[in-house]
Amino acid sequence: MGIRSLDIPLEQLPTLVTLDWNLQRARMPLEQQIAALKAKGVDTTDLEAEILAPLLALEKEGEKRLKKCVRNHPLWGWLKHIGGVGEKFTAQLIYLITGKKHTETCQEKRDKYFAKKKPGEKRARAFTCDCPVMEIDRFHSVSALWKYAGMNTESYCRDCKKTLDDNVTSCTHCGSTNTGRRAPRRRRGQKVTWNPKLRSVCRNIGKSFVMVTSSQYRPHYDRAKEFYNRKDPHLSDGHRDARARRKTVKLFLSHLFEMWHRVKGLEPPKSYAEEKLGHVHRIPPPESEETRKKEGE
Ligand SMILES: [Zn+2]
Ligand SMILES: [Zn+2]
Repeated sequence: MGIRSLDIPLEQLPTLVTLDWNLQRARMPLEQQIAALKAKGVDTTDLEAEILAPLLALEKEGEKRLKKCVRNHPLWGWLKHIGGVGEKFTAQLIYLITGKKHTETCQEKRDKYFAKKKPGEKRARAFTCDCPVMEIDRFHSVSALWKYAGMNTESYCRDCKKTLDDNVTSCTHCGSTNTGRRAPRRRRGQKVTWNPKLRSVCRNIGKSFVMVTSSQYRPHYDRAKEFYNRKDPHLSDGHRDARARRKTVKLFLSHLFEMWHRVKGLEPPKSYAEEKLGHVHRIPPPESEETRKKEGE
């Protein structure tokens, strides 16, 4: 049966996104192991024909459904115009950004519930609550979204490499005043402040903006790269590149924040800068009403 005629309901999106990841997780190490066996001169014809090929076919089949499914989401109406994003990234963004917005009371209850657990101790039941499931409107600001995506920066000491509190001017560990900012890192014994899966998707989108030279975000990357080449000549090219990609993804996320609100008929919250400082230099999202008007002028 062809899926051409199937309409895949949006409710299947979480299932199809996780299925895609899980099939990849099974297929990719298998491919490596087959290559290793071949290198040893072991015959892998049967493994390839009976296991790898069906796995690949399943992945393709799931992908087709995922692509059909995501087209039913209003966000696709904007993202389909953006070079380097595509259905898969769109579906992953929708899946990872959608979630419950917990009230303060609920958050306190959750913290207590999760704090109680000792190593090896099992809980009677999973923590549940009636907090509403939301999409982009879970985040009150672009900065909150950046932080959840792990695209914010944190203060650190360039000498002892330790992470510092945001507003300190000298290192609280070694006293050095040689402080800088970097992508947040996992710290032992501390909960991460971002969603690791979303961060990885955002990094992949950043790479895609570089690879797809026709993407509307590629010129922003080029400008950012030039900027960091001038500003941080002491850093390695790889580091400067990572910074430029992060800057580009942050711009994309700010546009996503705005457009996702708009396609849902919501007015996006104004940023602190726009609210407090009046006019700020703003790059409007590509393919939005605003850019279309400008281009029509
Ligand atoms: Zn809750
Ligand atoms: Zn230090």
